[in-house]
Amino acid sequence: MPVAKSIRKKLEMSHLRIGILGAGLIGRLMALQLSSDYEVTLFDSDEQAATQSPAYLAAAMLAPVAESVETSPTLMQMGQRSLQLWPELLAQLDEPVFFQQAGSLILAFEQDSAHLVDFARHLKGDEGEDFVRINAARLAELEPELAAQSKPFKHRLFLPHEGQLDNRQLLAALASTLNARGVIWHAHTPAEIREDRVWSNAKPYDFDRIIDCRGLGAKAQIPAGQRLRGVRGEVLRLYAPDVTLNRPVRLMHPRYPLYIAPKENHHFVVGATQIESEDTRQPTVRSALELLSACFSVHKGFAEAEIIQFASGLRPALADNEPRIWVKDHLIQINGLFRHGYLLAPVIVEQCVALVNGKAEDLPNYPNLIEKL
Ligand SMILES: Cc1cc2nc3c(=O)[nH]c(=O)nc-3n(C[C@H](O)[C@H](O)[C@H](O)COP(=O)(O)OP(=O)(O)OC[C@H]3O[C@@H](n4cnc5c(N)ncnc54)[C@H](O)[C@@H]3O)c2cc1C
Repeated sequence: MPVAKSIRKKLEMSHLRIGILGAGLIGRLMALQLSSDYEVTLFDSDEQAATQSPAYLAAAMLAPVAESVETSPTLMQMGQRSLQLWPELLAQLDEPVFFQQAGSLILAFEQDSAHLVDFARHLKGDEGEDFVRINAARLAELEPELAAQSKPFKHRLFLPHEGQLDNRQLLAALASTLNARGVIWHAHTPAEIREDRVWSNAKPYDFDRIIDCRGLGAKAQIPAGQRLRGVRGEVLRLYAPDVTLNRPVRLMHPRYPLYIAPKENHHFVVGATQIESEDTRQPTVRSALELLSACFSVHKGFAEAEIIQFASGLRPALADNEPRIWVKDHLIQINGLFRHGYLLAPVIVEQCVALVNGKAEDLPNYPNLIEKL
């Protein structure tokens, strides 16, 4: 490109006005990455605290290898790259966010040992590097309180590179950073896309780029031939001063893998059910019994735990449970993050920012992630 033309293009780019629909997880992170160069406007039907979003409910485990049992190898690679990118993203925030990469444990009692054998067989990482079978003595080093429980775990896997973060701290820190940067944020403001414009409260808004991050709220506007569905999840938040765990623990269970993710100051997220339903009712008794008995079976100290919250939400999912980025002219639609929003967000955002900047070819290419319409 001749020098004058390239300078003109640069100047045009620096004045881009970007409209983002949805200020859940992906919308906030997109705003973070774009607001240093462009004028960004966010629209969200929820309040800034995002209490209605699955992003607020999630356990925010960053577990590419554990999740690989049911995902493609590409998704695992995206998750592994995301784990490297998270610290750079968090370093841009005004407030600290709990982030940890101390691995995770997968445990099974005698009666569920077949599930763990099957789980280990389907892991896509390399044994010895991405996952290790450990004995009782190593478990005692990693999690002394678990090794001291009366009912021993018969099978144990350690996934040394996996991580987690505190999602609620992250959403709050993103909001305060974006507000400090002067991002325009229309809260309690549902929006939709019509005739290449954003419409909200019967008013049109024009942007140079529109980025749709509405999760399930975009159901009626995803590309033809795609089907977006909600997958119900129920999750508990506990305060358990009698329990200390150093990393997330998954317990093999016949219906779904249950996890206990320790956050700071003896707070724990216990979840999550995975039910093929868009039922938005409060959590059921059956799920309460299953989740609570599972965590009591892992550590008796949960008996005196305080139940802070028990809530349900819907994960936005496409047919193959993997995310897509659809690009058409100046519209980018991001959806289908399913149970992997936190796991994949840094890579998804990296790819979309590169699309806005016209630099997508500089990044790793993940088959099926980006679809040009
Ligand atoms: C129980 C549970 C546990 C989970 N645990 C994990 C986990 O451990 N690890 C992990 O990686 N992921 C986890 N997830 C998944 C993760 O939360 C989602 O993948 C992620 O939130 C999706 O991000 P998103 O930005 O695409 O959508 P969302 O977070 O749903 O954000 C969409 C936003 O769009 C807004 N919106 C909707 N409609 C409109 C409209 N018309 N106009 C304007 N705004 C609108 C909503 O208010 C919301 O703020 C879990 C999810 C659940 C439910």
